[in-house]
Amino acid sequence: MADAGELTRRSPKRLRAPVIIARLDELYDGGVVELDWTTHFELLVATILSAQSTDKKVNEVTKQLFVRYPGPEAYVSADPEQVQREIYPTGFYRQKTRSLQAMSQALLERHDGQVPLTMAELVALPGVARKTANVVLGAAAPEAHIADRDAGIAVDTHVKRLSRRFAFTRWNDPVKIEGDLMKLLPKAQWPSASLSIILHGRRVCDALRPRCADCVVERLCPSSQLAGRRDLAGQARSMGGG
Ligand code: SF4
Repeated sequence: MADAGELTRRSPKRLRAPVIIARLDELYDGGVVELDWTTHFELLVATILSAQSTDKKVNEVTKQLFVRYPGPEAYVSADPEQVQREIYPTGFYRQKTRSLQAMSQALLERHDGQVPLTMAELVALPGVARKTANVVLGAAAPEAHIADRDAGIAVDTHVKRLSRRFAFTRWNDPVKIEGDLMKLLPKAQWPSASLSIILHGRRVCDALRPRCADCVVERLCPSSQLAGRRDLAGQARSMGGG
């Protein structure tokens, strides 16, 4: 890794990227999932529910949900309309109910009710997209995530925005952004990278009003408003907060 003291916002992105992530990892304690969970199954359920929702809302819902539905058997035997009512506040409740019940059924049929900890098996579950699988694997088993040849970096709206602001990518497409990040970062940083970037996006690098004066990587950021730079995220308004 380059000597952080010698780098500036004009340094090549391949030198800035690992240093920026290391600094954010330090600040956010290695990147933590702000969803509440105690088992891998709860983590998977919460991550599915977090799509198009906030972690705060999901945590409010899962407090009761995890008591009523402690494992995949409970979802499979549940009345779908009842599950829909319980998860309604997280949005997209019909689709999420279908995902939770189909995912639970697949866990019982293929994995004895346990959550598998490989990318290939996770993305083969109904309702589990690559982003969800990366979050679950990175949070549940960072070592397995690093060793998994199919693993990558979860890209959500915050990772999109900050990757563009840092000039790590010029794309808007999550798959292309993930590819650019995987080229720039050492594999050891993959599990924490998106979690730390997400926390920085939520707490400091807001879509509409980034707090550049309070930003620990301001000196390395080509979009710093403190330095009078243009926001490389471009249409930040239409990209939303999430
Ligand atoms: S300097 Fe500003 S734009 Fe760059 S990451 Fe920090 S808060 Fe975001």
